[in-house]
Amino acid sequence: MRHQLTGNSGLYHVARELSRRGWHVMPTVRNARGADLYAASDDESRVLPIQSKALSKKDPVPLGGSLDTLRSDWWVVTIYANTAAPTCYVLTKDEVKAAAHRGMSEAGKVSYWLPPKSYALPQYQEAWDRLGSPAPTANLETQTTAVALESLGGSHMTVLDDVREFIQRKAPSAVCDDCIADNLRLSVRQHANHKTRELAGAFGFSRRQDVCSMCKNVKKVIGYVHRHDGQV
Ligand SMILES: [Zn+2]
Repeated sequence: MRHQLTGNSGLYHVARELSRRGWHVMPTVRNARGADLYAASDDESRVLPIQSKALSKKDPVPLGGSLDTLRSDWWVVTIYANTAAPTCYVLTKDEVKAAAHRGMSEAGKVSYWLPPKSYALPQYQEAWDRLGSPAPTANLETQTTAVALESLGGSHMTVLDDVREFIQRKAPSAVCDDCIADNLRLSVRQHANHKTRELAGAFGFSRRQDVCSMCKNVKKVIGYVHRHDGQV
């Protein structure tokens, strides 16, 4: 009973620490084999499975009879979980595995544990930044889109090339993301948005708030400006 109270104290502490940093926390059924909770970024482009290991003091963390069954990419060890001032250590699963100690009982039963000297380290202590940012970033979205497009069976470069050619064909007129998506029959409107933002940084492309030459709405549009040397 005492053990379960410690576990809950640690879990809710971790949930609070993640929540106040902007993560959307989803606890799971406690006796499920997977993660103890999931932390989702604002736009749900990232969902991190997290194991919560709570201890009443700075003890070894029991890891069970096999390292192969360890789940979840992220592990948070909370010590002094029952006190007013718990301390958390944020580790990856690989770090837990690499630092695990193997022991054998007299009866020959193998068990693994994580000793305090392996997890109670400054680089892990309250190192919530290791999880990344819960807010979406342009770079992350672009990566996510690339993965999403690959899973759709298309190639990232092909879509980018199509979008670039379409804008260059329309030059010197500017067009909006929606019209690009509709004309290129992109499955998800967001894809055009990501591509035009990618192109906006390239030479010759200009992205701005203006009238779209196709739908005539005032929106974010992108146009291609011919180069001085006449090359397109
Ligand atoms: Zn338009």
